[in-house]
Amino acid sequence: MNVAAILKGKGGAITTARSDARVAAVAGLLAQHRIGAIVIVGPAGQVEGIVSERDIVKAIATRGSMCLEETADAIMTRHVTTCEPSEPLDQLMSTMTAGRFRHVPVVEGGKLVGIVSIGDAVKHHIAEVELEAHALKNYVLAGQGG
Ligand code: AMP
Repeated sequence: MNVAAILKGKGGAITTARSDARVAAVAGLLAQHRIGAIVIVGPAGQVEGIVSERDIVKAIATRGSMCLEETADAIMTRHVTTCEPSEPLDQLMSTMTAGRFRHVPVVEGGKLVGIVSIGDAVKHHIAEVELEAHALKNYVLAGQGG
């Protein structure tokens, strides 16, 4: 299982915003699309940053609700870890665990082609484990003659 298979299952919808979008508007997108992070893109669609719900919560806790009038640029993470469609699922899960983030934009040839959340990763991991368990069970039953 790799990232391409996950994207195939969930579709390529990516919610993005520009760095000059108001934090309030970014929060609105998170709520509207029921997602946890927005990829911030430049004029050519290149990844410039990421804003997750955690960034907004942290900004409100430290600077108060005035931060909602600031732009995404003020709170986004600039050094974004991305992956390629060919990346194996277990490698992606290790990256998320080591980096302590729950979202990874998928980039192919410099172009943003999707985003994978920890929820997507866990869902596919469970499906994979269940398939393995099923195959093992059938193997054992076949060995017992039925
Ligand atoms: P998350 O767990 O995804 O809500 O994000 C936790 C923190 O990591 C926030 O500060 C995010 O801006 C940041 N973050 C989220 N995804 C990434 C990523 N792929 N690369 C780097 N930082 C990220």
